[in-house]
Amino acid sequence: MANINDLFSHNRAWAAEMERTRPGFFTSLTKQQKPKFMWIGCSDSRVPANQITGLEPGEVFVHRNVANVIVHSDLNALSTVQFAVDMLKVEHIMVVGHYGCGGVLAALNNTRVGLADNWIRHIQDVRDRHRGILDNLGPERRGDALVDLNVIEQVVNLCVSTVMTDAWAKGQKVCVHGWAFGVHDGLLQDLHMTVADTDQIEPAYRAAVEGVVAARR
Ligand SMILES: [Zn+2]
Repeated sequence: MANINDLFSHNRAWAAEMERTRPGFFTSLTKQQKPKFMWIGCSDSRVPANQITGLEPGEVFVHRNVANVIVHSDLNALSTVQFAVDMLKVEHIMVVGHYGCGGVLAALNNTRVGLADNWIRHIQDVRDRHRGILDNLGPERRGDALVDLNVIEQVVNLCVSTVMTDAWAKGQKVCVHGWAFGVHDGLLQDLHMTVADTDQIEPAYRAAVEGVVAARR
């Protein structure tokens, strides 16, 4: 286990190693960031965007919150997306959930955790919307299914935002994806909730929800 002073020594060692193997790496970063990818994930410490995807500093623009939720009025998330889409011109935005997510499990089981209950209420809305699917699964499968369904619903929330609607109306090439990460095996799953234009939201949503049901039959 690291203690707080280790972080500085780790940092100095990392910076030195980067500069040794890639001379000029940091100097080139100061010029600009031009990431192709945006990651919207859970704050969970076990799901670090760069390490999972092998991306370096400068390659992925990141927004994280509890249980990777995109709320219509969340100016924090939407401002981050707007900057990524309008200024950085990212080409892919991934909404990434993870199995064993504490926020999703709290929503599923009505666990009270405090202020965050109000945030998690958004995931309970997802749970209630898909009650029919979840009730038909064994209790051991419901958590993973709700992780997937939450990703799918949050992709929709992102896709109907003014930022995405306006970008697509202008013909901008930017694609939104729904993925889930396995903390138990380190692997990403594509939930095939992939949307590259407003008119793709509805068919992608229906197919992805059916995919969740089929995967857990
Ligand atoms: Zn989580």
